[in-house]
Amino acid sequence: MRKKIIAGNWKMNKNLEEGMALASEVVNMVKDEYQGSAEVVLIPPFTHISAVSKIISDASNVFSGAQNCSNHASGAYTGEISTEMLKSAGASYIIIGHSERRQYFGEHNDWLAKKVDAVLGSGLNPIYCCGETLEERESNVHFGVLETQIKEGLFHLNESQIAQVVIAYEPVWAIGTGKTASTAQAQEVHAFLRNLISNQFGSNIANNITIQYGGSVKADNAKELFSAPDIDGALVGGAALQSRSFVDIIKAMA
Ligand code: PEP
Repeated sequence: MRKKIIAGNWKMNKNLEEGMALASEVVNMVKDEYQGSAEVVLIPPFTHISAVSKIISDASNVFSGAQNCSNHASGAYTGEISTEMLKSAGASYIIIGHSERRQYFGEHNDWLAKKVDAVLGSGLNPIYCCGETLEERESNVHFGVLETQIKEGLFHLNESQIAQVVIAYEPVWAIGTGKTASTAQAQEVHAFLRNLISNQFGSNIANNITIQYGGSVKADNAKELFSAPDIDGALVGGAALQSRSFVDIIKAMA
């Protein structure tokens, strides 16, 4: 059975004290209230990963992650953070190619492919994001856009490497906008993505790869989204900044 994963991307929010309080609340609430099988991933700013990783260390189903990384291993790259540094701080997952990185920081698929390699090289799991803009969806080119993002970012991997990857489908028009893709729209894309993976890597790998949905996921739409056969969890932004709303999303996953 493939892994279900609910991840909270805190983006550039919360100071250290606030982040530690949020992580503690989530861990305690998950322990008390969640009996399901999903993994929970807290993805704070870099500066908080070490502290958050200590807070979650005795919860077997809660992990930490990072929002980005360098594609370089070490050296004269001022301001960059390597996958080994993130690993030593306790991170298990690293988001690669979030649409905000693509849009505001010019990250392209060829560069992201190198970051995926760096994450895998450190034995960590990339959460590789893909998603179309509103304009691309309205002009009906979204499947082509998604296919290019997946092919250029992931198709150079071998079978054991792709098995470590989590894919997050995040339509850009649904991120932080309050507009969620309908369950039918999301399911259609998730099935398309799984089929792409199947054609390249085989059906066994495709059936086991986790594909998360992201884009204005809230407690009141999570259950329906999670009922779709190809939606294996969520990458959550805004609603992950409060323990109650985030844990209610987790609880929507059986
Ligand atoms: C995200 O940042 O990945 C995201 C999905 O944000 P939000 O849930 O706020 O739309």
